[in-house]
Amino acid sequence: MNIIQDFIPMSNSNRPGTSLNPTYITVHETANTNHGANAEMHARYVKGADAQNRQVSWHYTVDDTVIYQHLPTNELGWHSGSNGNRQSIGIELCVNSDGNFAATRARGIELVRSMMNQLDIPLSRVVSHQHWTGKNCPS
Ligand SMILES: [Zn+2]
Repeated sequence: MNIIQDFIPMSNSNRPGTSLNPTYITVHETANTNHGANAEMHARYVKGADAQNRQVSWHYTVDDTVIYQHLPTNELGWHSGSNGNRQSIGIELCVNSDGNFAATRARGIELVRSMMNQLDIPLSRVVSHQHWTGKNCPS
């Protein structure tokens, strides 16, 4: 599995550095269907000013060719409300119009499976963003 580690700088406000012992995996979709809104674009986004202003961060972004990791799995991100954030790692699936969503989904499943193994998380604790906050995500 091709995972590019491109961590949010420690000095950014959306990388609080709070320790996390994840017992859930939360799956999201980016809801950005723009051409080019792939994992590389989201890796740039999450390091930038807008993500800090909106107070968002997450662990992985998956597209149809690659996976980017933005935070270590033992550090808390801001993606699922306070309950979800302090218990789960966040995975975003890209829905860019120029991507192949079936391939993105297949790669996402591969990543979830690998994280379940690595972090000893059962399938019953693989949940959607909606599980935590009621948000329509993945839509
Ligand atoms: Zn979400």
